[in-house]
Amino acid sequence: MRLPITSNFFDHGAFIVLQLALPSFFAKLSINPLRFLKFFASIGVITTPLASSYAIPIPLGESKHDTRVLILGGGVAGISAAKALHQQGIDDFMIVEARSQLGGRMKPVLFGAPGRQYTMETGANWIHGTQSGEGPTNPIFALSEKHNLSTQANSYHGSMTTFDHTGQVDYMDTFNTAIKDYAKLMVGGGGRVPGGLVDTTARIGYSLIGAKPRTFQERVAEYYMFDWEYAQTPEQTSWIASSWANNFTYNADQGGFSHENLLSVDPRGFVSILQDEAAEFLTEEQVVLNATVETIKYSRDGVSVIFADGSSLSADYALVTFSLGVLQNDDVAFEPPLPDWKMEAIHGMNMATYMKIFLQFPEKFWFDTEFALYADEERGRYPVWQSLDMGGFYPGSGILFVTVTGDFANRIEAFTDERVKSEVLDVLRSMYPNTTIPEPDAFYFPRWHSDPLYRGSYSNWPASFVSGHHANLRATVRDRLWFAGEATSQKYFGYLHGAYYEGRRMAKYVAKCIRNTNCKHLEHIKEVLNSGPYNMDID
Ligand SMILES: Cc1cc2nc3c(=O)[nH]c(=O)nc-3n(C[C@H](O)[C@H](O)[C@H](O)COP(=O)(O)OP(=O)(O)OC[C@H]3O[C@@H](n4cnc5c(N)ncnc54)[C@H](O)[C@@H]3O)c2cc1C
Repeated sequence: MRLPITSNFFDHGAFIVLQLALPSFFAKLSINPLRFLKFFASIGVITTPLASSYAIPIPLGESKHDTRVLILGGGVAGISAAKALHQQGIDDFMIVEARSQLGGRMKPVLFGAPGRQYTMETGANWIHGTQSGEGPTNPIFALSEKHNLSTQANSYHGSMTTFDHTGQVDYMDTFNTAIKDYAKLMVGGGGRVPGGLVDTTARIGYSLIGAKPRTFQERVAEYYMFDWEYAQTPEQTSWIASSWANNFTYNADQGGFSHENLLSVDPRGFVSILQDEAAEFLTEEQVVLNATVETIKYSRDGVSVIFADGSSLSADYALVTFSLGVLQNDDVAFEPPLPDWKMEAIHGMNMATYMKIFLQFPEKFWFDTEFALYADEERGRYPVWQSLDMGGFYPGSGILFVTVTGDFANRIEAFTDERVKSEVLDVLRSMYPNTTIPEPDAFYFPRWHSDPLYRGSYSNWPASFVSGHHANLRATVRDRLWFAGEATSQKYFGYLHGAYYEGRRMAKYVAKCIRNTNCKHLEHIKEVLNSGPYNMDID
């Protein structure tokens, strides 16, 4: 069934935020779940049994629950899980989403002064890695091809201008050295795995390969290669995990897709590929929008979720795809509380922040390259600038944006918009000391870290998070609660394709349990131990 996509605009200060909404009748469904239930109970949807040939633990006819599977969260993981269930003939599921549309962290806004508005991606924007020859295809790339997404290749290393606080200064040699150091870091980190060497931070890795940035310029060049990808510092990040996140995505020799980075420049928004895909197989009764889960109750008999308005839904299984940040911040309560081994895994992984700050000027006055680096005395202070006012992107738009990450981003989220704007303009003025820089016509940045539906942008793997923790992050709780999302992906944590694969994988496990064919739960490790005991008996 093909569902139309509609757009729905609302004012948001100086710019207009675009909601690339699911079909209007989905939106009409975004009602109190109790009303939703009554409506579908009245037309018999909820009690429709699956084919009786399936051997299932709780035969549907006898199920005391509202549905077989509650998919909690309508982002990439939720939609890919739903699709995998559907492909296996299981359609008795419901996707529960707090927002008024599907997409999660694929979140476009319409940005700009009246008459000069463009679609900006506040969340995911790039397809990282596409395909090399006959090698594996990034599933997000495949979706973008299928749904005719407009993209533009972004040259990460080949189109750069360099600045510091005195203005434009050529330190491309330093930048090129940072590119080579990062490549060595990635090889070194990956090389520790076959030998069983212990993990360390990426900072230690950098030091061991002899890369010790000291000048502001060396630091910003390193920042661009590292923090701008992982949204945290080398000190906060695992050497091994950052290597495989890089290699399995970008390095075709290591099973990755390709080095290519495609930026979505589609006016419908990057999210349109997910919403178009969802519209192909979801029916209206399978999606509950505007429904914020407050509590998840679980036992060996099943799961029930309680919504903010006090209503509830129950199921045989739930697949939790809420972000790691949501789980860390107790935005959703679990009854009984999640076991210690799960909590240690949830809190052991990091939720990082990646913040894009958009500015629109009457006309372009800046660099002609795709990117610019600004070396401040403070590492990570408004360092990476990106022009959209150029061929292939949004020529004539007057738009550029600066990205900040990690603790710096978290800190400035607490500032007013005016204060951030003033700091950003000060930096631009020091980059262009001889240019009169006007006030921007439009200014916007999202606050991912304080948003209770996300609490950050994407996960990042610290050196203290070992493979036992990772197994526990994914492991099933009491046979009924399953977990998926970008953060549970070992090879692709942080990425859209990580969320996609994890949603599919967990749905396949759940499908086996529903059919009672080779039903396997993901086992947990009760206590994650050191690889070897410490010897405390030393002088
Ligand atoms: C700023 C930014 C830039 C990024 N850039 C890229 C990029 O360029 N390329 C890339 O590959 N990846 C990028 N990512 C990462 C990518 O967006 C994520 O990996 C992916 O979208 C995660 O999907 P998910 O399904 O795991 O989680 P989510 O998208 O977070 O889905 C979970 C859903 O649960 C909903 N939810 C949360 N709490 C509740 C509740 N209590 N009740 C009901 N619903 C709830 C949320 O609204 C959300 O829709 C970026 C992310 C951000 C934020």
